[in-house]
Amino acid sequence: MGFLQGKRALITGIASERSIASGIAEAMHREGAQLAFTYQTDKLKSRVEKAAEEYGSNIVIPLDVTSDEQIANCFAELGKHWTDGFDILVHAIAYAPREAIAGQFLDGLTRENFAIAHDISAYSLAAIAKAARPQMQGRNGSILTLSYLGAERALAGYNVMGVAKASLEATVRYLAYNLGPEGTRVNAISAGPIKTLAAAGIAGFRKILGHVEENAPLRRTVTIEQVGNVAAFLCSDLAAGVTGEVTYVDSGYNILGMTGLDVE
Ligand code: NAD
Repeated sequence: MGFLQGKRALITGIASERSIASGIAEAMHREGAQLAFTYQTDKLKSRVEKAAEEYGSNIVIPLDVTSDEQIANCFAELGKHWTDGFDILVHAIAYAPREAIAGQFLDGLTRENFAIAHDISAYSLAAIAKAARPQMQGRNGSILTLSYLGAERALAGYNVMGVAKASLEATVRYLAYNLGPEGTRVNAISAGPIKTLAAAGIAGFRKILGHVEENAPLRRTVTIEQVGNVAAFLCSDLAAGVTGEVTYVDSGYNILGMTGLDVE
């Protein structure tokens, strides 16, 4: 029996088979969770429906997190299927306008780009956690989001997305503090770089992957399967004592100080 047997999980953020959310869905399904999915745009609908079918789910709901109406509708719809609530909420959503994640931090910085990155990549976690709250209360539930090292270190090209990820990680702590008394845990995984559609928008991404392969303690990049396995664990009762944490799944890259310096 899988360690998520009897749990119900809503998974956001599938845009392709390479999405981190796809790796999470695979691991949660393997461990026995029932799954439901959201899709951002009509273009992505059939892709997400196909993934849902693979996992024996017929719950596929539209959710663009820039719309308060869609957020409300998403949980109203979910409540029609899972009438007595659900246990796991996976937030795998981020966006910044392309010009804001190229060149130097100040090059693409505008009030609008800053606001968009924070709205979609950080506020949305709090917004969907708030909307999901009545359906998750008192079930030993778990909310999980995805962050990146750019939240706490200055990384070339990550720019305003790093500032938004810092806000996302702080949001994890405030949500954990707020929702803990009612039994809901909130955590983040800080994943190493993985080639997904979102990552393709980051300038010089191939170079970043090569750098990790050469310098991370494990000398390899991570996979969506590795992130999926840790996500499944963190959202299971095996991790009942863990909340408000950022867990690294990055081949150990975050522990390094100087990289690329060989000492004979
Ligand atoms: P992806 O492109 O597969 O997924 C990003 C998802 O965000 C897509 O499904 C997209 O539909 C969704 N999204 C964007 N704007 C949205 C909106 N307004 N409403 C609803 N959904 C919206 O890429 P991914 O790499 O799997 O990204 C998932 C998460 O993992 C993101 O938070 C990303 O920052 C994070 N992350 C990625 C990496 C990496 O290297 N790929 C590393 C660390 C963290």
